[in-house]
Amino acid sequence: MLKVILEGHDNYYGIEDVIRMFYGPSVTDKDSHVIQNDRGPDLTLVSAPDPSSELPVNRQVKRDMYVRLSELTGLSFPWGCLTGIRPTIVAAEEGYDPGRLVSKYLVREDKAELASRTARLEDEIAGIAASRLNVYMGVPFCPGRCEYCSFIAQDATKHLNRLHDYAKAMITEMRELAPYLDKTPGTIYMGGGTPTVFGESDFADVIECAHQVFMPGDDTEFTVEAGRPDTITSEKLKTMRDNGVNRICINPQTMRDETLRRIGRGHTSEDVIRAYDEARKTGFEVINMDLIAGLKYETSEDFIDSVKTVMSLNPENITIHTLYKKRRAGMSREDVLDASGRGDVDRGVSEAYRLLEDAGYEPYYMYRQKDTELGLENTGFCKKETYNIYNVAMMSYDCDVLSVGAGAVSKRTFEGGRFERCSNVKDVSLYMNNAGNEALKKISFFDLARNAR
Ligand code: SF4
Repeated sequence: MLKVILEGHDNYYGIEDVIRMFYGPSVTDKDSHVIQNDRGPDLTLVSAPDPSSELPVNRQVKRDMYVRLSELTGLSFPWGCLTGIRPTIVAAEEGYDPGRLVSKYLVREDKAELASRTARLEDEIAGIAASRLNVYMGVPFCPGRCEYCSFIAQDATKHLNRLHDYAKAMITEMRELAPYLDKTPGTIYMGGGTPTVFGESDFADVIECAHQVFMPGDDTEFTVEAGRPDTITSEKLKTMRDNGVNRICINPQTMRDETLRRIGRGHTSEDVIRAYDEARKTGFEVINMDLIAGLKYETSEDFIDSVKTVMSLNPENITIHTLYKKRRAGMSREDVLDASGRGDVDRGVSEAYRLLEDAGYEPYYMYRQKDTELGLENTGFCKKETYNIYNVAMMSYDCDVLSVGAGAVSKRTFEGGRFERCSNVKDVSLYMNNAGNEALKKISFFDLARNAR
């Protein structure tokens, strides 16, 4: 068993994160200042600050632990000792200089380049997003549960009666807010779940209400995550177009039918193409498509085939996710980490980036999640200036987000980088009974009463 004793610092979280990369989750006893990992070798290490280091203590002790475990195992990771912070934040702190990410945090050169380039555009977009209010509308329902999903989505096929009530609750919450909103938002994002899971009439009611309440202007970015193509109909597309929605996401995740079937997506690659063509015909000029690298039943060649197929459709945005898992999903941590063999997913992701950049897509936002193969990232790519501003706003510490829907989290920012959060109740039934009160919470949180009209 590996035993790490912390001396002179209390960065338990950071040290656990580093150990996790090599050996999986640990057990921490803060009273005795010890982290133990029963998958590690029989060894005791002491983690202590190095006063000669130029790094802050919290980062220096992680770097030191990373170097020691790397020497011990012969393993290194694409993002080096960077954990628990978005790489683009560190890249901006380091003056967008990839060399400093490599030397200070042992980040691999290609990742350091990617983070530095992405950070520049991300910061530019955050500046745009910070100047206006951003709105989020959450719909935690899906037509079924994908095998890899970690998101608690109500199974809408079993709760169709609740969808109608949920639509009514969202409308109640939005209407309650309406008299207090005096400015056109910069962005509106309807996400989930799968917002297009509503029946056509409920969907139209929600979208029309959003249009009346938030009053998107010509320059408002209004996105709907249409997500699963089997929920997209020409009626819903027209509803969106007629109510100011100017971007949609149609997410195949993979274009391999065998995988789609095995992961329980309930649609085929043909459905994706049909929905995409229909969306173009309806007039949508910006479409995002998500793909996942490292799906359990796929090799990197399968993944690259999907990337090429999606690129041949020519969407404005393509987002590459690396499969990750939280405890709730129906896959074990080992399923995720050993899905295609160590390094295969890494190669696939690198190849996808090369193909995208050669075709004129540029990376504009990035984040990482725990328990992905080799700690790999998720990166959004866009064709020239078609980036999704909301995607950056939701991660930025400088952007206000007003959110409606069960479990939706609002964010208010203050001078000096301080921000606060206000969460709507997560339980769908409680939300449906209290949607008006959830609006009142936000009127107070954002101090909106002064805007009452
Ligand atoms: S569509 Fe998305 S949120 Fe819904 S079950 Fe699948 S992965 Fe989860």
